[in-house]
Amino acid sequence: MTPKVAAFLGQSAPATPCLVLDLDRVAENYRALRTALPAAKIYYAVKANPAAPILRLLAGLGSCFDAASIQEIDECIAAGAPADAISFGNTVKKPSAIAAAHKHGVPLYAFDSTEELHKIAQFAPGAKVYCRIAVNNVGAEWPLSKKFGTTIDRARELMLEAPTLGLIPHGLSFHVGSQQTGTLAYELAIAQVAMLFTDLKAAGLELKMLNLGGGYPIRYQDDVPDNDTFGTAIMHAMTEHFGNDLPDMLIEPGRAMVGNAGVVAAEAILVCRRIPEDERRWVYLDIGRFGGLAETEGESIRYRITAGNGVTGPVVLAGPSCDGVDVMYEKTPYRLPLDLAAGDRVLIHDTGAYVTSYASQNFNGFAPLAEHYL
Ligand SMILES: *Cc1c(COP(=O)(O)O)cnc(C)c1O
Repeated sequence: MTPKVAAFLGQSAPATPCLVLDLDRVAENYRALRTALPAAKIYYAVKANPAAPILRLLAGLGSCFDAASIQEIDECIAAGAPADAISFGNTVKKPSAIAAAHKHGVPLYAFDSTEELHKIAQFAPGAKVYCRIAVNNVGAEWPLSKKFGTTIDRARELMLEAPTLGLIPHGLSFHVGSQQTGTLAYELAIAQVAMLFTDLKAAGLELKMLNLGGGYPIRYQDDVPDNDTFGTAIMHAMTEHFGNDLPDMLIEPGRAMVGNAGVVAAEAILVCRRIPEDERRWVYLDIGRFGGLAETEGESIRYRITAGNGVTGPVVLAGPSCDGVDVMYEKTPYRLPLDLAAGDRVLIHDTGAYVTSYASQNFNGFAPLAEHYL
């Protein structure tokens, strides 16, 4: 938690649950990523946290944006981003959204199927397109490879088809999975796509761009490699496989840009022993899986959670709703103070990414998560 966030929580005692986020930390993260990988242009993955103050800050710093819907594109433009700094990176887009983005002047469109390529040709004629390759997500705590991306062979066919539809075959992309805790997946993916660059060049098609996606991790409970480790490994793999002929490089960090800038302040609603023979207390918070903590699904993302500083004992953590899946952590061992009681404040750290944007609308009457940007 940054000093600014701590001071706000101490002085303002905001109603909970709420996210409190330090924008200075986002600016620091942006600069750190630029420094770690100066060869790459940053396209902030808006879905991680689409709040206007974040988009305005990043637009001011010269960041580009990876948007997934026409709503996100409109929000980036409203925040001051030029349309040509936006990539429409979702491989699943409404025809009306493609047409509206094209009208705004958004230049870049992702696809991973012939059907989507045809949609782009129809609704954004002449646009630059890039094909998403499905790559190994080894090391990712939040994998994405099952739903997106195509094979190298299919990508080759689709890139060769693009010009016949009047589109500009601009490049390739991949995503190694979110909260990617190692560099291996990037190295494997770069090796794989580099072969397709070479292969397409031999077929007369020179691609200009490689989009290396997101995935850069933040520290929750365990140490992760730092930005420089990723930057060095990526540049090493790039020069090994592309030599001096580097394509334009894009990265799309989401979590690494905003995750560690925010803290959720919550309140314990009930602390009880549900099962007499279980030494663990059940702690029900005023935020749960539906209030924004969706990434606790499968206990994949294990946030650091603190409350006071007394002697601790084991707990199960659950949310406030009347839904049986609204349990955050039952298998992962969590400990909270033995004197924790209803009404006490509980902090959920490093929750700047993938929390507010996942909060439900009035499920059980609970309002979407309140947000404070400092
Ligand atoms: C979600 C997403 C990102 C951001 O991923 P992080 O792991 O948060 O960095 C980047 N690119 C695409 C296409 C995405 O869907």
